Amino acid sequence: MKLSEHFELSEFTRNSHGIPNEPPAEVIPVLREFCERILEPLRAHVNRPVAITSGYRSDELNRLVGGTADSYHRATPNRCAADVRVPGLPLEEVFDWLCHESGLEFDKVILERGKRPNTEIDDCIHIQYRSENPRRLAYLGLTHGQGAYTPVEVTA
Ligand SMILES: [Zn+2]
Repeated sequence: MKLSEHFELSEFTRNSHGIPNEPPAEVIPVLREFCERILEPLRAHVNRPVAITSGYRSDELNRLVGGTADSYHRATPNRCAADVRVPGLPLEEVFDWLCHESGLEFDKVILERGKRPNTEIDDCIHIQYRSENPRRLAYLGLTHGQGAYTPVEVTA
């Protein structure tokens, strides 16, 4: 199922645990809104495909990946999240654009350094969206599961 011009529902639901992970019908509209308002403008800016490494998570999948109980990845009719990478571009560049140039109405973005040291393979940018009153927060996340979340000022 197409959510927007360049994003498919299957990109939000696939997972390495091989478990069924279909969202309820009532969250499809917010996933579409997220694609239209955040992911499509991002894709247009970078002018290349944006890879979703983790999108929707059922309760079971969220438990398996160790997500927090209130994770936006679990999605409700007015909120959702995706972890993304842009193959071929440094994450810092994408993150800086989101925070300082994009003007996009995200709720929160986090530049995450993955759990595996000495590799960038599980690094990503967490982008969460809510349909009303987006807070436009930004953080530098944990590095390999260590350290603290550092707030970043969103300037545009
Ligand atoms: Zn995330």
